[in-house]
Amino acid sequence: MEEELRSLLQDLETLKRSVPDPDQNDSINKLQQRVDKIMSMSKLGSARRSKVKDMSAEVVDSNPYSRLMALQRMGIVQNYERIRDFSVAIVGIGGVGSVAAEMLTRCGIGRLLLYDYDTVELANMNRLFFRPDQAGMTKTDAAVQTLSDINPDVVLESYSLNITTVKGFEIFIESLKRNQKQGANTGVDLVLSCVDNYEARMVVNQACNELNQTWMESGVSEDAVSGHIQLLNPGETACFACAPPLVVASGVDERTLKREGVCAASLPTTMGVVAGLLVQNTLKYLLKFGQVSPYLGYNSLKDYFPTMEMRPNPQCSNSACLERQKEYAQAKPARDALAKAKLEAEASLSNEGPLHVDNEWNISVVDIDSEKTSAASRSSDALPEGLMHELPSSDRLQESPLAQETITISDDLEDLQRQLDALNAA
Ligand SMILES: [Zn+2]
Repeated sequence: MEEELRSLLQDLETLKRSVPDPDQNDSINKLQQRVDKIMSMSKLGSARRSKVKDMSAEVVDSNPYSRLMALQRMGIVQNYERIRDFSVAIVGIGGVGSVAAEMLTRCGIGRLLLYDYDTVELANMNRLFFRPDQAGMTKTDAAVQTLSDINPDVVLESYSLNITTVKGFEIFIESLKRNQKQGANTGVDLVLSCVDNYEARMVVNQACNELNQTWMESGVSEDAVSGHIQLLNPGETACFACAPPLVVASGVDERTLKREGVCAASLPTTMGVVAGLLVQNTLKYLLKFGQVSPYLGYNSLKDYFPTMEMRPNPQCSNSACLERQKEYAQAKPARDALAKAKLEAEASLSNEGPLHVDNEWNISVVDIDSEKTSAASRSSDALPEGLMHELPSSDRLQESPLAQETITISDDLEDLQRQLDALNAA
């Protein structure tokens, strides 16, 4: 294609020379500029990397997964490559959702389902991800354009629809159910809610309660300085309706609360932090490492990160939530037996010889009570010539205080007795 465009440029140049009228030259110049633009665009397109069949841990600059596979070598993740088996649905491709989608794409997630009904606007440019040249495109299409360039290995599905409409909700449920996984009601491993209103959150909550689908909720405050993420596992944890926010509980239409000409504030920083927390929790949940946070808040003004757990409400207004609660309670004996078996398996494993067979870094265990160690710790007390400790060392403090104190107290008592005797004598 590039060659054809080049020859077209040459033809235009020849045509320009053969035309005596300079007015006509102008339009030929414009044509040349357009061909130039198409050429640079085609060059951009050809810069895309090809798909990678298997994730490799090989440390070479051309391997897009070497840094991620290193997590396995460092002992953080047992099997990083499993990430390719996972499907994640992201509802709301705004300031948080788009960044979360990019992070998961860069991590090599298997499949991403993207839901949004909005279009990219210049007013979105204070946030990360979208570019000014994407203004006017649907957010899902613009996201697919960028994400497929970043990592063509990820299967991307774009749904430009409003899940709060009856039709939208149907398509949403159907799309989640597609490619159903063994032993599950859906084809996705996790749903991430990155929407900016309660109505959509309640819809995600409804769908996930009905499908018994684990999901994570995220949100950023309207003043842009705080946010949160929350894990919702139907039946096990509180659902979004178990402890509804005041706006939802009071039944007020939140759209009536918005004032004309006044919009919510937003910062790329807070949204980036919340997206980071959300995807970190997602990776921990999917790849089974570290502790998955049930709730993590973020207050940027005080750098305060509150955490808490929320149990389901037995009086929840959502009937699907009550059904899941009942199922969860009924499955308790089986869950306990499984946990016990797991504990026993771990205990027997820990009795089976060394934990690490090879010792690449020659790490050895030293007895902290040994003579060698205590001698070493004493030598650390030694100071250069001319300096002395102002306070006694902790060892010396532990050795003597009781004995010294007894002497002092008895001295004081004898002294008092003498003074008393002298007074009596006088
Ligand atoms: Zn509930």
